[in-house]
Amino acid sequence: MKEPFIHPLFIIHTLQQAGHEAYFVGGAVRDMILQRKVGDVDIATSARPDDVMSLFPKTIHVGIEHGTVVVLHEGEQYEVTTFRSEGEYADFRRPTSVQFISSLVEDLKRRDFTINAMAMNEKGEIIDPFNGREDLRNQLIRTVGNPEERFHEDALRMMRAVRFVSQLAFSISDKTKRAISEHGNLLKHVSVERITIEFEKLLLGKRPSLALALIADTKLYEHLPGLDIGEEAFRRLCKYDWMMLEDISECWTLLLYLLGVDLDPFLRKWKLANRQIKSVKLQLGGLEDVLKNGWSKETMYKLGEESSLRVNRILQLVRSTNYLHTTLLVSRYRELPIHSMKELAITGQDVMTWLNRKGGPWLSALLQTIEMKVLNGEIKNSKASIKEWIQSCKQILEERY
Ligand code: ATP
Ligand code: MG
Repeated sequence: MKEPFIHPLFIIHTLQQAGHEAYFVGGAVRDMILQRKVGDVDIATSARPDDVMSLFPKTIHVGIEHGTVVVLHEGEQYEVTTFRSEGEYADFRRPTSVQFISSLVEDLKRRDFTINAMAMNEKGEIIDPFNGREDLRNQLIRTVGNPEERFHEDALRMMRAVRFVSQLAFSISDKTKRAISEHGNLLKHVSVERITIEFEKLLLGKRPSLALALIADTKLYEHLPGLDIGEEAFRRLCKYDWMMLEDISECWTLLLYLLGVDLDPFLRKWKLANRQIKSVKLQLGGLEDVLKNGWSKETMYKLGEESSLRVNRILQLVRSTNYLHTTLLVSRYRELPIHSMKELAITGQDVMTWLNRKGGPWLSALLQTIEMKVLNGEIKNSKASIKEWIQSCKQILEERY
């Protein structure tokens, strides 16, 4: 057994010594076989949530009604979930109730894809009743059981299928693909938040353009927020090398730029957090500036170093001649006389004293003028130079501000 399974092995052993079955399951087993970086290590057990909580000193009850207890062990968190079959599926969403069962195979059967429906025991042996290993070898996403039924139970699985295509650069089985083509409309029953999570993972995956092409083939875009834009327009998105992007706000910025739609209503449909919307707005504004006028000191200053680098990656991806080599952009940014108002050699208090005036709106307007003049090198960023400039145009300033 290798990392990261060694520490949680203790949890498996503890459950077994108390007379229960316990296995590693799901994504961690898949990623280990693929020799991919393993994310969260999840455990499935025949023990009921109460038993799990009594066996470990530190637990958090996150989703007890779904049978999940988080066990804290050596500074890590592990989800320990009781074997379950999912009772009734109401309205094409996750089931409202679950039934605890004693069979591992039944638990694996409720999982979405064959590659996610494998378990590993304490000896490192793989339990694989649905031939997930074969599908991993063939690089194929295939539902456990009939895809139409599985998508009727939980329509999000269609989005999960395309996100795994992107993350793993796999293909999708013909039958699973056909079922997506025929049942895209079921996505309306799924909460936008769950769709957004899968879509963002897709955009940040290894082969986003492959997954976007699949969304085009299956016409799934007709059921995604703000993306029912016709096949030709959607296919244009597949032509770009999204994998060059490193951060999700860059992906949203590129998407908005390519779509040319209003930012606020589109991102609100996807229910993005306000913070995220703010940074996409900043970057999209910066991108449009640079595409039109090249990199200016103002644009770099407004964006800050990190967002400048993000905008620059998008410029590279859209093959803009205004793309700058990263090191050149960083050195130009660092050479700016100031990087924020805080670096200005004076304060509002200084200006009030020199002009013998009380604060007010005039002060922030004047400070902004000084900020831009210092940024553009018209005034040196020193107390003496700024004071001298203020005094040389004191009269004009008093009239204007
Ligand atoms: P990731 O590496 O992104 O976490 P994952 O496969 O671990 O991928 P999770 O969303 O963490 O995905 O889910 C853990 C496991 O739970 C999956 O591997 C799968 O077995 C099962 N699962 C998750 N969502 C569903 C679903 N909607 N329907 C059926 N099974 C699911
Ligand atoms: Mg996971």
